[in-house]
Amino acid sequence: MRELLARLDGWQGEQIEFLGRLVNHDSGTDDVLDVNRVGAILAERLASLGFTVSRVAQEHFGDHLVAEKPGRGPRRFLFVGHFDTVFPSGTVKERPFHVAGGRAYGPGVYDMKGGLTALLYALRAHRETRSRAWDDVSIAIVFNSDEERLSPTSRAVIETQARRAHSVGILEPARPGGEYVMARKGAGVFRLEVTGKSSHAGLQPELGASAIWDLAQKVAELHTLTSSDTGTTVNVGVIRGGTRPNVIADRAAADIDLRVWTTEEAARATARMREICERVRVPGTAGRFTGAIQFPPWPPGDPGTARLLEIMQATGRDLGVEVKAIATGGGSDGNHTSQLAPTIDGLGPQGSRAHSEEEFIELATLLERTKMIAGFLERWAAEFEVPRG
Ligand SMILES: [Zn+2]
Repeated sequence: MRELLARLDGWQGEQIEFLGRLVNHDSGTDDVLDVNRVGAILAERLASLGFTVSRVAQEHFGDHLVAEKPGRGPRRFLFVGHFDTVFPSGTVKERPFHVAGGRAYGPGVYDMKGGLTALLYALRAHRETRSRAWDDVSIAIVFNSDEERLSPTSRAVIETQARRAHSVGILEPARPGGEYVMARKGAGVFRLEVTGKSSHAGLQPELGASAIWDLAQKVAELHTLTSSDTGTTVNVGVIRGGTRPNVIADRAAADIDLRVWTTEEAARATARMREICERVRVPGTAGRFTGAIQFPPWPPGDPGTARLLEIMQATGRDLGVEVKAIATGGGSDGNHTSQLAPTIDGLGPQGSRAHSEEEFIELATLLERTKMIAGFLERWAAEFEVPRG
């Protein structure tokens, strides 16, 4: 173990340079050519580590990468990370990778090119020291290109791999306090569309049926479903409707975000939302409610996750790092994998301000998290009990 970790100290400068190279290539989800360029850098790295890399070709997104390396033992571990960002082509030109005051900045440095870099160097240390994990464990990696659009095309790829794996590590960044992630709320996007009847607001108001007035009352009621007791949140984030002040609106629509901790709560809250949206408040209008939960809940207290956290905590003791974990309302591909295999999330470096111009990582935690991944994998190879059969 000591040799494994010492190897990483020697690569610190090179590792930061590699992170800079990843960050300095834009890879906004919708810019397919950009995304594929970053995919090519990652594929080349994985191949040089001895992985068999296949590209899962996509039409509207960059190609996903699936990499595999067989091990001699029965254990199989899956790592998942996305290499798309929320920043469009040209962002790097405006604010390229740079380091200041112990922090590294640049588009996607925290979410999540830092996590990808940490994994690649952790695996390199395993390979070069011929660690137990490297010999024994079959390692699979999915690097997906569409996570910032909620993984519409990679979800099935990830699920196929998660089904075969005994545990999954998600390379999303650590929370701002350095915490790992052990639970995530389920999330769904819903839409309410109200149709009414237009009429002159001054001449013949009685002939109209205002879709806006109906929608407004429903929006107010939808927001009362948010509860600090259950942790359920309902947020109407977008409303549209009407044409002019002097026309009674015949159309209005709302986009609604729902977050829940459990599957039962998802069903209950969705049923309540439907009831609210379909009940007529303004005579002559009709409401249509559509949508579904896209990210299933990964509730707190998952025993598989708890086991992985124990192994991470033991790794932290090896390294003198305090391991904390939290539950969060934000979704990730961990929501999907946790349904199929024990999952731990937030393996990437510590930082903050994801999806903003101020995004950064605490640079020292790049090496620290790389060591944590490397040490965790070695302990997992020795300690994780693989179910029989
Ligand atoms: Zn992310």
